[in-house]
Amino acid sequence: MTKEGSAQTLMILGASGDLTARLLLPGLGALLAAGDAPPVTLVGAGMDEWDAGRWQDRVRKAFGEHADAGQAAPTLAGTRYARADVTSADDLRRLLDGADGAVSIFFALPPAVTVKACEALLEVGLPEGTRLVLEKPFGTSASSAASLNRLLNRLAPEERIHRVDHFLGKSTVLNILGLRFANRIFEPLLGSEHVESVDIVFDEQLALEGRAGYYDKAGALADMIQSHLLQILALLTMEAPLSLDPAVFRDATAEALRATRLWGGDAKTSSLRARYAGYAGEPGVDPARETETLAEIVLAVDNWRWAGVPFRLRSGKALGTGRKEAVVTFKHPPRIPSGFRGPDQPDRLRISFGPDRLALDFDINGPGDPFVLDPVTLEAEFGPGGLPPYGEVLRGVFEDDPLLSVRGDTAEQCWRIVEPVTSAWRAGQVPLLEYEAGGSGPEESLLSPTRTAG
Ligand code: NDP
Repeated sequence: MTKEGSAQTLMILGASGDLTARLLLPGLGALLAAGDAPPVTLVGAGMDEWDAGRWQDRVRKAFGEHADAGQAAPTLAGTRYARADVTSADDLRRLLDGADGAVSIFFALPPAVTVKACEALLEVGLPEGTRLVLEKPFGTSASSAASLNRLLNRLAPEERIHRVDHFLGKSTVLNILGLRFANRIFEPLLGSEHVESVDIVFDEQLALEGRAGYYDKAGALADMIQSHLLQILALLTMEAPLSLDPAVFRDATAEALRATRLWGGDAKTSSLRARYAGYAGEPGVDPARETETLAEIVLAVDNWRWAGVPFRLRSGKALGTGRKEAVVTFKHPPRIPSGFRGPDQPDRLRISFGPDRLALDFDINGPGDPFVLDPVTLEAEFGPGGLPPYGEVLRGVFEDDPLLSVRGDTAEQCWRIVEPVTSAWRAGQVPLLEYEAGGSGPEESLLSPTRTAG
């Protein structure tokens, strides 16, 4: 393990891109300003002919309020940019020759370029201890993810390969584990005996935001469900890990995902795809690709604890209301004593993400007539994480802590789970529906209806 305080080089390949400017550099700035970060030499590499001043301006702007704090100031003063074609072994060799200390290579590149860069790195050879940091999408299928894993394993051991999932910050992961395993209240209820169904939803109000080049080739299923929402499903369904040690934790999530498959094995009844009206006319979109901007799938976690409970996952863009939450709907009580009146709605545990919140909805006696039941909600806020998600990701990389990184076999499992859906969609077996931008999504939704007030 690299000690805090020892020299590090963060080499960003694809430094002139969107991810670098919008997420990666701000996360680095916050981490460096936080005070306990190691000194980091930042090297940006890209195709564009940028001079040192232009690169430094970009880094300063992205560091924002953190630019002069802690380790951020020396990193900013010492950062450099190199023009490089990262698919060229000669260019990569030049870059690596000038690197100090432990090197972390961040592939902020289009996925196909990342593969070529890794192939070129095989020719170059990596300094001992180099870490590789890869973005989603990790492959496009179980077999392409497996072949990328084989390539990466020729470059570095698994513990130094970080497959980033920035959606789940460390605090969210720990919040879910704490909620489930640090008290006796919820865990005994979480299983098929008491749970009717679970919905995991990521609805965005944002539409394409000029990212058609990426999104039109990915779509909601690959962009969100195959990666992030399956990680949440794993956290909600896994058995209690013995410790928070990353190796133990990753075994437990892998086990849950290995048990996960499409509900009933039929994509016609267990998946839905749709795009918002107007998507086909957005600049950069090829309507013939029939890319979905909203996807829903229903999964079974086919093990002793969860057999028979449907897990409905959904993600969509351009919706009227943003919603990022997991909702556990409980079964009805076996029998409510005759004489009680009023609404009889299912009890629900709702876990919202970013900011993380908890709400428990259930019915109790309302004010006034004690024979009449009323819905109430108990709520709690989780403490916010100290760093933005990419700050946490980079801290994990510098400390060789893979807690937030998806293990190679798990990345393959996640593709295995969605593959029956992608094949059925490609074969035209599931119609592409349309929904109004700014609305609530298609009427045919497979999600459970939301609880109505009062
Ligand atoms: P961009 O297209 O904005 O950036 C990619 C960068 O790579 C560009 O600066 C491009 O330079 C550079 N590049 C391409 N080919 C080469 C090459 N041969 N040598 C050197 N540089 C090269 O993509 P993003 O930043 O949006 O995405 C990067 C990765 O991050 C992708 O895998 C994406 O899926 C992932 N990601 C992105 C998110 C985001 O919000 N942007 C969120 C989550 C994941 P040039 O423009 O000059 O060709």
